[in-house]
Amino acid sequence: MTFQVKSFAAYNNHSPLAPFLAQRRALRPNDVDIEILYCGVCHSDLHQARNDWGWANYPIVPGHEIVGRVKAVGEQVARFKVGDLVGVGCMVDSCGHCHACTHHLEQYCEEGMTQTYNTPDRRDGLMTYGGYSERIIVTENFVLRVPENLDTKAVAPLLCAGITVWSPLRHWNISKGSKVAVVGLGGLGHMAIKLAKALGAEVTLFSRSPNKAADAYRLGADKVVLSTDDAQMQSVTNQFNLIIDTVPYTHDLKPYLPTLALDGTLVMVGLVGELEEPINTVLMQPGRRSIAASMIGGIQETQEMLDFCGEHGIVSDVEMIDMQSINDAFVRMEKGDVKYRFVIDMATL
Ligand code: NAP
Ligand code: ZN
Repeated sequence: MTFQVKSFAAYNNHSPLAPFLAQRRALRPNDVDIEILYCGVCHSDLHQARNDWGWANYPIVPGHEIVGRVKAVGEQVARFKVGDLVGVGCMVDSCGHCHACTHHLEQYCEEGMTQTYNTPDRRDGLMTYGGYSERIIVTENFVLRVPENLDTKAVAPLLCAGITVWSPLRHWNISKGSKVAVVGLGGLGHMAIKLAKALGAEVTLFSRSPNKAADAYRLGADKVVLSTDDAQMQSVTNQFNLIIDTVPYTHDLKPYLPTLALDGTLVMVGLVGELEEPINTVLMQPGRRSIAASMIGGIQETQEMLDFCGEHGIVSDVEMIDMQSINDAFVRMEKGDVKYRFVIDMATL
């Protein structure tokens, strides 16, 4: 049993996104039916629509920064009721029994988590469709509670951009006294500055864009380093306990490695794919430096981040767009011209 919902989809890797009727499953006993209010536009949506990662199943309905209100619940749902303000991020299911799933790390499910879009559902095989849509049906365990005190439309980007940088900040125990650097001031980057600062760290931004410095300070950065300026790069040698690299494309890591402190880690969250510039271990052995990677965060950790944002009044800096403007938004995102997250008002669908 399925029903149709108004959505916007990429039909192939080059045409503009266009209207699409997505088939959603009828409510299962443990499902939550959500009327979508807002959906953030992640750079991953652009990568997937263009098939940059090579695993597109068209048509793709992107969107994994979803905030909405509960419209109905299945008979076994215990934690949500009609009218609750809820969120859905990058995943909607996982196996539930592997080592990762039983340790609240569903994003690393050994059988592969079910992504919010562009993945067959693990129970009925129906393709998943994301948040560029009027409604979504999600199993209760993958639905997040959204604090009511925050600006609802600016909460949406926390569901991917927020958790993707929160998870490494927590994993590497960032707190007062830590020094954190963020590479790239976009959706993930601006949330990394805000969250690292709120955890008590001293925060530096590495950016290619001199015109973003004022914004970086406003967002909470203590220092801005122009990554194209060698003298500025040299001035921050041996500094950082953690560097969060959000750059979406292949780039040279060598200039960043000497800026790590003893036992420091550069964690790659931006690039999904191959590094083309070789890495030189001579830059890593002194200082026992690490390069790591990280993917979104678990459900429990996502709830922790949302609650933390509720307590500290943290949301994303958003530019609201209509559904019909999504193709222009993608073009601007490719140029790095986003301040600092587009959010679609789903009432315009
Ligand atoms: P975004 O808003 O477009 O921001 C990316 C920023 O990176 C840009 O604003 C720019 O900042 C910098 N940048 C862009 N192109 C660059 C280039 N060629 N060289 C150097 N710097 C460049 O993107 P986003 O939504 O934050 O997403 C960033 C990446 O994270 C995407 O690839 C996305 O797919 C990925 N992602 C991964 C996860 C995960 O779980 N690991 C989750 C979500 C997203 P400056 O102008 O300041 O240099
Ligand atoms: Zn995302």
